[in-house]
Amino acid sequence: MKKKSQILLVALGGNALIRKGQKGSIEEQFENLKNPIRQIARLSRKYRIIITHGNGPQVGNLLLQQECCHDIPRMPLEILVAQTQGQIGYMIESSLDNELMSLGLSVKQRFVSLLSYVVVDPEDPSFACPQKPVGPVFTKEEAEKLPYPVIKTPKGYRRTVVSPRPLSIVEKNEIRKLTEMDFIVICCGGGGIPVIRENRTFSGVDAVIDKDLASAKLGEEVGADIFIIASDVAGAAIHFGTEKEKFLKNVSAGEIHSYQKEGHFPPGSMGPKVEAALEFIGKGGKRAVICSIEEIEEAVAGNAGTEIRL
Ligand code: ADP
Ligand code: MG
Repeated sequence: MKKKSQILLVALGGNALIRKGQKGSIEEQFENLKNPIRQIARLSRKYRIIITHGNGPQVGNLLLQQECCHDIPRMPLEILVAQTQGQIGYMIESSLDNELMSLGLSVKQRFVSLLSYVVVDPEDPSFACPQKPVGPVFTKEEAEKLPYPVIKTPKGYRRTVVSPRPLSIVEKNEIRKLTEMDFIVICCGGGGIPVIRENRTFSGVDAVIDKDLASAKLGEEVGADIFIIASDVAGAAIHFGTEKEKFLKNVSAGEIHSYQKEGHFPPGSMGPKVEAALEFIGKGGKRAVICSIEEIEEAVAGNAGTEIRL
């Protein structure tokens, strides 16, 4: 086999596993993973691969489970993130195993999922003001009784949590080493378990980190070459959801930055993807593409998605 020199980092959206409108049964999640994981298995012939993934819908379901049962102590978000890293890591691993097997690659191609900590700054301004909505929707009366901050969203009242910026991936050296040894590494699930560093110790914080921003940081720290942000849309669009909607194909950093300032990419969805792509190429990454999970290979080939260049 030819030596693989380039590192391809693929960030899978949490919506890749539970599509909008689905409840998220285990059958649905495995079915949804087939297509993207098959593509990634094929790409592993040519690239060293790192897979990161979101966990929004899964954490939402865990929060809902916690609301349904009051006899068992509620767990903080850092623990729920850790739970979803195990849960989704397992689903990706077993899907990958099947796909590698059907390509005849399962003997050669090894893989591992890694619990990942991500360091955040205790002084991050987001700690003063939790803004990211997570989990189930409540009525006004229910929301008033909740022991945590909530905001009114178009769907109803939702819990808000702190979402600090990722500073560094704690396991970056291990991930780099595993990649050099040609393991496919599944890591930074759900943006990573947020931790604060105090001298040599880490302590978890009740927060969530955006998985696209965490992935961009990981890409920078391990020296990834190509960063694919795969979601449930064909790419980044201007005037999204309106008659003037136009998906961007190949845009310069300057051009997309000015669309960003005009408010085309909302926080919490397309905003962090655009920001993550800009961060990655700004820090030395070669290519960054936002695409649909169905078009990962096409995006790597330069034929799909929104490619952002310097
Ligand atoms: P993921 O789980 O992949 O991170 P998100 O829901 O966070 O998914 O982000 C993808 C969503 O962003 C799309 O489903 C789409 O509805 C929304 N979106 C908002 N603005 C835009 C835009 N300008 N272009 C494309 N999609 C957008
Ligand atoms: Mg997202």
